[in-house]
Amino acid sequence: MTELRVFTIADQIDEAKACRTVRFRGSLHADPGQFVMVWLPREDEFPMSVSYVGEGFGLTYKIVGEGTRSLSTMNPGEKVGIRGPYGRGFEVQGRRMLAIAGGVGMAVIAPLVDLAMEERADVDLVLGAKTESELIMKERCEMAGANVHISTDDGSSGTKGLATDIARRLLQTAEYDCVCACGPEKMIVSAFRLSEEHGLPFQASLERYIKCGIGICDSCAIDGRHVCSEGPVFSGDVLASLEDLGRRRLSPSGRIVSLD
Ligand SMILES: Cc1cc2nc3c(=O)[nH]c(=O)nc-3n(C[C@H](O)[C@H](O)[C@H](O)COP(=O)(O)OP(=O)(O)OC[C@H]3O[C@@H](n4cnc5c(N)ncnc54)[C@H](O)[C@@H]3O)c2cc1C
Repeated sequence: MTELRVFTIADQIDEAKACRTVRFRGSLHADPGQFVMVWLPREDEFPMSVSYVGEGFGLTYKIVGEGTRSLSTMNPGEKVGIRGPYGRGFEVQGRRMLAIAGGVGMAVIAPLVDLAMEERADVDLVLGAKTESELIMKERCEMAGANVHISTDDGSSGTKGLATDIARRLLQTAEYDCVCACGPEKMIVSAFRLSEEHGLPFQASLERYIKCGIGICDSCAIDGRHVCSEGPVFSGDVLASLEDLGRRRLSPSGRIVSLD
């Protein structure tokens, strides 16, 4: 079990509306897709993927509730407890990757693009958001060398429609060795179906309610698999066996709830 370490905030940067990146002093190494448990003493502990790895590592978060709101009000010099990194991350398979990111899922895909570039792979990245003001890390991935394709639900930037609409068109015209996705679970299900139609290896990062982070408490279970320790990144072979994918999840109190 990775012990709790205390890191000092170096900076907080606005990425988009209600979305920030916190950077820390010090170093943390993680594979793209691995996550840490962020501990705010007397307030909350919650999982966050590592969006910047190594020296000056960072986490990119959407402000949705109490924990993320508290984190957003913290200033440089203040301290945060971090456990991890935990879980299984993405692997770069082959030389040509199609990456699909929805909303804040881009925080997980951006370090994957960096790794793919280090491994000299070509990346087509589809970045989807509800509206232009929610697009994040576009320039970062363009500067890294990815071909970035934008979609927005309202057409305020890029192609109007879903990220998977663009992915479908790219898959018809280009050759890929693998497809990787992170975003809303319905998007992941559509992306998985597309990869199956084209016979391509698939990986996606799933979100479930995580408490312990180390595969003990069962709160993140999906069809008996622990998202925290066996995931959060799962291969297509495993995803194909999950009946609850895109349908059901456990609530924080352990009740089965619909994803609709
Ligand atoms: C592996 C993993 C990686 C994640 N990475 C990111 C990331 O990079 N950026 C980001 O913005 N968000 C990420 N999340 C989601 C993030 O954990 C929640 O948004 C955060 O916990 C919300 O906390 P809160 O106190 O602000 O909100 P709350 O009001 O407590 O909850 C708001 C919603 O956040 C989710 N949530 C709350 N607590 C947890 C928890 N312990 N585990 C899982 N989901 C929870 C629930 O869906 C809940 O409905 C990740 C989740 C997982 C499982």
